[in-house]
Amino acid sequence: MLSVQDLNVYYGSIHALKGVSLEVNEGEIVTLIGANGAGKSTLLKTLSGLLKPKEGSIHYLGNPINGKPAQSIVKMGVSQVPEGRRVFADMTVEENIELGAYLRKDKAEIDKDLKKVYSIFPRLYERRKQTAGTLSGGEQQMLAMGRAIMARPKLLLLDEPSMGLAPLMVKTIFETVKDISEAGTTILLVEQNAHIALSIADRGYVIETGRVILSGTAAELQASEEVKNAYLGGH
Ligand code: ATP
Repeated sequence: MLSVQDLNVYYGSIHALKGVSLEVNEGEIVTLIGANGAGKSTLLKTLSGLLKPKEGSIHYLGNPINGKPAQSIVKMGVSQVPEGRRVFADMTVEENIELGAYLRKDKAEIDKDLKKVYSIFPRLYERRKQTAGTLSGGEQQMLAMGRAIMARPKLLLLDEPSMGLAPLMVKTIFETVKDISEAGTTILLVEQNAHIALSIADRGYVIETGRVILSGTAAELQASEEVKNAYLGGH
């Protein structure tokens, strides 16, 4: 579904991605694991069209998408939940969710998807009239995910959904990621929390200072000494 080949991305003279290649097959949850500054967000921004690679190719459903504007990539079915959530604090929860459908015109289907988001996240339904800035961190993460679902993505890009959340909330969010996957959305999950990411992923890649240094099935990565020592706290 998504094929990334030899991607090189720079910020001025900083070489942030150094020949990154990866594949995401339809129906999979693939995780990209890495520490702070490894290049995870840079990769997601490049995939969603916010950054232009200097070299390399990105194919989505067989079509090259590098260099395409972010809006056309969203229209093709790729939707991103950015790091740090970025909800519109002064708008209501419902207005924030509806924004996710801004490129769509099918009103009846949009209403159906809104109901779907509320059934996945009953908490958002309870708080639909509240301004988004008053939500807790975990609720804002749900809101950002709900907004992304409204774009009807075939491929969902998640940037560190566990960041800043209490363990119980992380568990809830990841169970929901699994549900979204089982309902037919392919997922690329970027995480620092290797333990939880590998617990729901089919496969994973480990990125260090802009390079993929390891890849394999989730079970292989969980068993790898390198991953255990560097990302699973030696367990
Ligand atoms: P984190 O988990 O901390 O967000 P990350 O793996 O997502 O880390 P990136 O944000 O992709 O890392 O950053 C990769 C590298 O590129 C880092 O060295 C970072 O300092 C650098 N970088 C990121 N954004 C910019 C920018 N706008 N200008 C210059 N350098 C940048």
